[in-house]
Amino acid sequence: MRNLLFAEPDSACEIENFDHDLTRLFGILKMQRPAKSQQENNLATHLLNLYEDAWPDDYGNVIVPVKMEDSYTMFSCHTDTVHPKPNKEHTSILYADTILKQVFTNGLSQLGADDGAGVWFMMNMIEAGVAGLYIFHRDEEVGGLGSSHFAKYHEDYLTQLGIKRCVAFDRHYYKDVITHQGTRCCSDNFAQALSNELNMTDEFEFEPCDTGVFTDSANYTHIIQECTNLSVGYWAQHTVKEVLDYGFASQMLARLVQVDWENLPTERDVNDNDYAYGYDWHQWSGRDYKAYDFSMTGSTNHTSYSTMIQFIEQNSEYVAEYLLDLDVTESEIIQHVGIAFDDL
Ligand SMILES: [Zn+2]
Repeated sequence: MRNLLFAEPDSACEIENFDHDLTRLFGILKMQRPAKSQQENNLATHLLNLYEDAWPDDYGNVIVPVKMEDSYTMFSCHTDTVHPKPNKEHTSILYADTILKQVFTNGLSQLGADDGAGVWFMMNMIEAGVAGLYIFHRDEEVGGLGSSHFAKYHEDYLTQLGIKRCVAFDRHYYKDVITHQGTRCCSDNFAQALSNELNMTDEFEFEPCDTGVFTDSANYTHIIQECTNLSVGYWAQHTVKEVLDYGFASQMLARLVQVDWENLPTERDVNDNDYAYGYDWHQWSGRDYKAYDFSMTGSTNHTSYSTMIQFIEQNSEYVAEYLLDLDVTESEIIQHVGIAFDDL
């Protein structure tokens, strides 16, 4: 993890004079695209117009096959963002810290690098001619609706193409190759081999990680053997403090076009759905995998209750970020610990 602080407005400058690729990235980030919005639809239409071989399924997912005769790889991102209160123009004001190479908003809206970063990677990979089946999924943030539709109605298409691996670009921070989204989604050997490929970039420290939360690739684990999700350099997603390390994202993109995707090992059985060791996973309503074991605050754990209270007081922002990553909502905490709403 690098610098987790929200950059000071003083050290920031308004975005201007960036090269073509970053201008496109910031253009994507500027658009507030909540699920089912006109703006999400506009992005999908833009992609359909841009790529000759692109086609929409009947849900509105955009599928772009590139040199499929050479490929058994699928790439995944989502077009929607978390913007519960979009402004009238559906446009965010962005700032960049050009020293840290971080981009963020003026604090009045989410950045939407979740998953604008993934959209940007995939557009550039398509244009670089990286072979694969690119699926820009709709409505991930409201229950993985686009991907569950595609998995349900286009299973034969994926099977006919012989897709062996599905790689999503939708994970926070810098170094995760996700092996479990609740239950196992890819083999450890696949995750390690992909980590090794990514780490050919100096300073990259990718490694297999079993604490993933839901993204679209989880909806294909019964069809595709190796499904994963990669860190793309954003954090505090879903909040107005969301940041994208665009320096990292640019390095990542440069690596993604070099990875030898087709020679990664394929080992997982599609029926292998084990739980991550040491985690108390519960699958909820097909989407949410609740991971946090609240009993860790009890006497059975090394961390005493008072130490935990102290830790939360001193690190409340990170604890909030962690809980959000685990999809834990305020009402669930209230329900779990039994506080009546009236007490708040
Ligand atoms: Zn996402």
